[in-house]
Amino acid sequence: MFDAAIIGTGPAGLSAAINLKLHDKSVVWFGSAQGSDKVEKSEKIANYPGMGLISGPELNAHYAAHAQTLGLTVEDKMVTNIMPAEDHFMLLAENEVYQARTVLLATGVVSARSFSGEAELLGRGVSYCATCDGFLHRGKTIAVFCAAARYEHEVEYLAGLAAKVYLYTPYKDSAVTAPNVEKIAPIRAVLGTERVTGVELFDGTQIEVEALFCLRNAVAPTSLLPSLTVEGAHIVVDRQQRTNLPGCFAAGDCTGRPYQLAKAVGEGNVAAHSMLEYLAEK
Ligand SMILES: Cc1cc2nc3c(=O)[nH]c(=O)nc-3n(C[C@H](O)[C@H](O)[C@H](O)COP(=O)(O)OP(=O)(O)OC[C@H]3O[C@@H](n4cnc5c(N)ncnc54)[C@H](O)[C@@H]3O)c2cc1C
Repeated sequence: MFDAAIIGTGPAGLSAAINLKLHDKSVVWFGSAQGSDKVEKSEKIANYPGMGLISGPELNAHYAAHAQTLGLTVEDKMVTNIMPAEDHFMLLAENEVYQARTVLLATGVVSARSFSGEAELLGRGVSYCATCDGFLHRGKTIAVFCAAARYEHEVEYLAGLAAKVYLYTPYKDSAVTAPNVEKIAPIRAVLGTERVTGVELFDGTQIEVEALFCLRNAVAPTSLLPSLTVEGAHIVVDRQQRTNLPGCFAAGDCTGRPYQLAKAVGEGNVAAHSMLEYLAEK
């Protein structure tokens, strides 16, 4: 059992991880080992104290070096489900269950809109985890939404199990080579009532499939933790970064505007101190 689970390796997650580590807490830290995509894409950052004018890749390199200095390591995995238990949380990440006394959601803001019907059919044919659920569809026909090229190995994995894969990528030049993969137009909706029966495309075509895998770099907070209080895309927190669920905290872009590095780092710091207080009280 870890003292804390942190979801997100952006500035908010890093800030919390540093502070928890400095207080000798055991931390499991999930997200991309490369850090935040958003930071990486920033051409020039001019409003981050102490850094003058710095590029996103340069700042990410500083972040990685700081984490390494403290011996912080990343579980390069997507968390797809968090289950509150009596006095701790269980987190599902790529088929493995982790347990932690506190959780910090530092997931960034989920910009990708979900498909119509996606939330209703989650767990009933809609999946966010190829390695967890792919085997359920061995020899069957499935659809996959692959949001970025770095998830293409998961598409190949699914193509190795399914008989046929209909693939939609919002970017050009996908390098998927499996012969049973057919590219399709943008997906508009997931179809089905009890379970997924198909997908509807923006060009009006309907395709029969028994599952839709959504491979994105983030999961909507309420898909992760359905009992979380949100306002639109943002998690509701108080000034201690506490959510409505005892032991669960949130920091950074996921709690609301402005979407800024300094706010993310500050909230990560406050969240870590609130988590320390919560752990001490327990
Ligand atoms: C092009 C661009 C330029 C910008 N320029 C500036 C600037 O000049 N100044 C400034 O202050 N801000 C700038 N920003 C905003 C800044 O990058 C964000 O405010 C900041 O990165 C937010 O940090 P965060 O830690 O909250 O979230 P993010 O940086 O978004 O990190 C969240 C991380 O969590 C991961 N994650 C999400 N869900 C899961 C899950 N279920 N399991 C595992 N991992 C998960 C994501 O993949 C992501 O890596 C810019 C943003 C962009 C896109």
